[in-house]
Amino acid sequence: MCGIVGYIGSEQAAPILLDGLSKLEYRGYDSAGIAVFDKDKIEVAKAKGRLSVLAEKTDDGKTIHGYMGIGHTRWATHGEPSDENAHPHISNSGRFAVVHNGIIENYIALKKKLVERGFEFISETDTEVIAHLFEYYYKGDIMDAMIRVINRVEGSYALGVLCSDYPDQFIAVRKSSPLIVGLGDGENFIASDVTAILKHTRDIYYLEDNEMVVLRKDGVKIYNKDKEEISKEKFTVDWDVSAAEKGGYEHFMMKEIEEQPKALRDTISPRIKDGRIVLDDISLTTEDIKNINKIYIVACGSAYHVGVVGKYVIEKMCRIPVEVQVASEFRYCDPIIKKNDLVIVISQSGETADTLAALKEAKNHGARILSIVNVVGSAIANASDDVIYTWAGPEIAVATTKAYSTQLAVVYLIAAYMAEKLGMLTSGEYANFIAEIEALPDKVAQILTSKEELQFLASKFFNCRSIFFIGRNLDYAVSLEGSLKLKEISYIHSEAYAAGELKHGTISLIEDGTLVVALATGQELFDKTVSNVKEVKARGAVVMGVTTDTHENMEDVADYVVKIPSAHEMLLPSLTVVPLQLFGYYVASLKGCDIDKPRNLAKSVTVE
Ligand code: GLU
Repeated sequence: MCGIVGYIGSEQAAPILLDGLSKLEYRGYDSAGIAVFDKDKIEVAKAKGRLSVLAEKTDDGKTIHGYMGIGHTRWATHGEPSDENAHPHISNSGRFAVVHNGIIENYIALKKKLVERGFEFISETDTEVIAHLFEYYYKGDIMDAMIRVINRVEGSYALGVLCSDYPDQFIAVRKSSPLIVGLGDGENFIASDVTAILKHTRDIYYLEDNEMVVLRKDGVKIYNKDKEEISKEKFTVDWDVSAAEKGGYEHFMMKEIEEQPKALRDTISPRIKDGRIVLDDISLTTEDIKNINKIYIVACGSAYHVGVVGKYVIEKMCRIPVEVQVASEFRYCDPIIKKNDLVIVISQSGETADTLAALKEAKNHGARILSIVNVVGSAIANASDDVIYTWAGPEIAVATTKAYSTQLAVVYLIAAYMAEKLGMLTSGEYANFIAEIEALPDKVAQILTSKEELQFLASKFFNCRSIFFIGRNLDYAVSLEGSLKLKEISYIHSEAYAAGELKHGTISLIEDGTLVVALATGQELFDKTVSNVKEVKARGAVVMGVTTDTHENMEDVADYVVKIPSAHEMLLPSLTVVPLQLFGYYVASLKGCDIDKPRNLAKSVTVE
């Protein structure tokens, strides 16, 4: 995820690009760059760090001249934030400059071929293959080259492309990454979202996948992959800047909840090739996996809750003992780590102080570290032996949603990858599990189509003083996250309990009208949880049951029932969590809370 902007018109392009990028910094901010066509060549300026570094380097764009250009603010997925890895990327002859948002899934194979053909790479990005592919396929017609490039690359992309042979036009295309076209008077734009160009125009075209656009000063033409011109309906945007940043949503949290299908797809699909899980990113060999003695999962907050799911899943699928610990405890508990123990560290920001300290502690004890991190080049990523990145894009809301979901997806990939190497899965089971993982994004999208149901339930319960979440095994693990989501943004006291444990003390808190959210998605323990629902009902609780569409009898015991699609038992947490995120969100919204910035909390906790 990143911000792209492009301009052609009668004004100096560079200051307009920098101004547009400043509105897109929430989409990515580890480095930035611009390319501007000046007389007969393309001038490029890029810089690691926030956009202000680039602005300073170019004197707010004044040192770069020309009336057409493209700009990018990056959220690294491949290669750490650096000047070299910043976009735009340039082809070897300097003829093409490319900005890209997304992930090119087959870039390794493409890079190998291009290197064999003599192309020189200067960055570690996946994007650079696109610049060289343009050069490779270009035979004098830029559209023909574009068609060949998009036929060749797999993955997601929004591209802005300058070619020095075309002084009065640039081109763009998108697939599974956002890109809009802004229509001005004697000037035209592309942008990742309307915020970047609202100052100049409110008239836009939305592009569909693989629609290619040619932008000139005095007009815009859109073509399909057969080079046929297509006509588009023009939209006039009436959002203000802050609504536009949030894509029209009231809060980043809801935007990020809605982004989960895409974030999951981006994280999962590049790692499944020809029906197998491919974890190119890690160096753990089959031999190493066979020798693992014990796994620790160490994390904080929601990432810790991912770890709790991970414990159940890895133990069940790999039969390796797993211990989950909160990082602030682990770092001081003098952990007993033996040779061949693996420590999995999970952190969205990759900068969480407690988690980083726990990682160092584990390293001092000789552990091998595998981290699951969302920010490329972050401290935790750099200190780990192996890293698997979640490709969730920047998460702005303090309460995590898409980072949690993508961390969980990575845990599933690791579990199945190891289980297969350990010979714990038949080929049929392995294929089925992979197909089920691949189906998750669509199932999450399906749940999101009935958001109103959760809004209705929130309207019934937003005045509660205390709410309990219960479940067994994996459902218990998700209860922890559902409870945290609710309490961190709505300030309602909430606890998560293993359903069978409630009667050993906490059930004394259940009284007339107490809301209990009971998760019972798994087959094996469904009846057991139903018994626990009956216990709380008998003490006056109101119960909201969450179960799959295959379980009919939840309706008999619960007052309200939320259904999720069925899935492989191990994968149900990815679905169960979604209604709980929505419930927390709507409760907080009805209470008028500051959802994106809850009191007392910070996004990345870099203090002990
Ligand atoms: N995959 C590209 C990179 O790592 C683009 C990332 C982005 O969308 O900012 O450079």
